[in-house]
Amino acid sequence: MKSYKKELTFDLPARRGYVNITGDVQKAVSESGVKEGLALVNAMHITASVFINDDEGGLHGDFEAWLEKLAPEKPHGQYRHNGYEDNADAHMKRQIMGREVVCAITGGKLDFGTWERIFYGEYDGKRPKRVLIKIIGE
Ligand code: ZN
Repeated sequence: MKSYKKELTFDLPARRGYVNITGDVQKAVSESGVKEGLALVNAMHITASVFINDDEGGLHGDFEAWLEKLAPEKPHGQYRHNGYEDNADAHMKRQIMGREVVCAITGGKLDFGTWERIFYGEYDGKRPKRVLIKIIGE
């Protein structure tokens, strides 16, 4: 069995945002040489997510509005976590959007449905944060 690990780093200029990382993950799959296997992709920070959905800007705006209803950023004082930090909302947004995805690799390619894309979701940006890619298979 082959095993391959790679880290990606993102430093978004805003507090929140989404980055399509499908190409980065496919590149790692190609580098791994794995033709049949699995790829785990996870955020290494507790205020960021990795998830699979549509690459459509309207939907990403809908995510933003929905997450702000569930866990509004402000006022910061509404959260017990916000003593010396101000990112309680980011922890909650990450929790509902998920930590990781696991993708099938078939014939050396991510085996996806037509509209499936992998995203990095940032909820407390303006600093470098990492994503882990772990690939296993033959
Ligand atoms: Zn925190």
